[in-house]
Amino acid sequence: MKFVILIGPPGAGKGTQAKMLEQSLGLPQVSTGDLFRYNLKNETPLGKLARTFMDKGELVPDEVTVAMVKDRLAQADAADGAILDGFPRTQAQADALDQLLSQLGGRITVVPNIIVDGEELIQRLLKRAQIEGRADDNEDAIRTRMRVYQEQTKPLLDYYQQHGLVVDVNGQQSIEDVQQDLQRVIGQA
Ligand code: ADP
Repeated sequence: MKFVILIGPPGAGKGTQAKMLEQSLGLPQVSTGDLFRYNLKNETPLGKLARTFMDKGELVPDEVTVAMVKDRLAQADAADGAILDGFPRTQAQADALDQLLSQLGGRITVVPNIIVDGEELIQRLLKRAQIEGRADDNEDAIRTRMRVYQEQTKPLLDYYQQHGLVVDVNGQQSIEDVQQDLQRVIGQA
């Protein structure tokens, strides 16, 4: 079981790239953001709980998120692993993932870090807000998501660096060029 963890700030293009990687790697994309949005749309209890956090740009509590990911990774299409997009986002989630992978016999092969500068990120998110109308793509929520990324998710890069897993990828290129770089980095892992 092989796991690739895409790390990068909101707007870095993790979702777009993860979807493109599904084909070439033959692994499913597991996006916690998409899973929460699916629950929201279907008005499940999980969706109702998640909404209160997501709309403000805050993180859904770790226990809830970890339980959802465990369920997802137990599905048949993830038998060989997955491309994780938006998870883990905190040290507690990273620890829970390590524990789960040791139970499942899986390993993290590489952690591509998609780098895009702050100004460009804001522009992308505001543009997406106009196109997709995501409730958390407003200025306040965007600011919170950026702060949460800096405070809670960025430190994970140190953690995975210690395990020799992080490889930087320039996210400020065309979608195709970013994809090419990612495929190369993952292929070498
Ligand atoms: P983005 O990366 O653009 O902020 P996502 O679609 O990955 O967007 O996530 C949207 C929201 O879903 C987050 O702001 C958060 O509220 C919730 N969420 C997603 N992944 C996690 C996670 N691993 N832990 C807690 N909350 C999460």
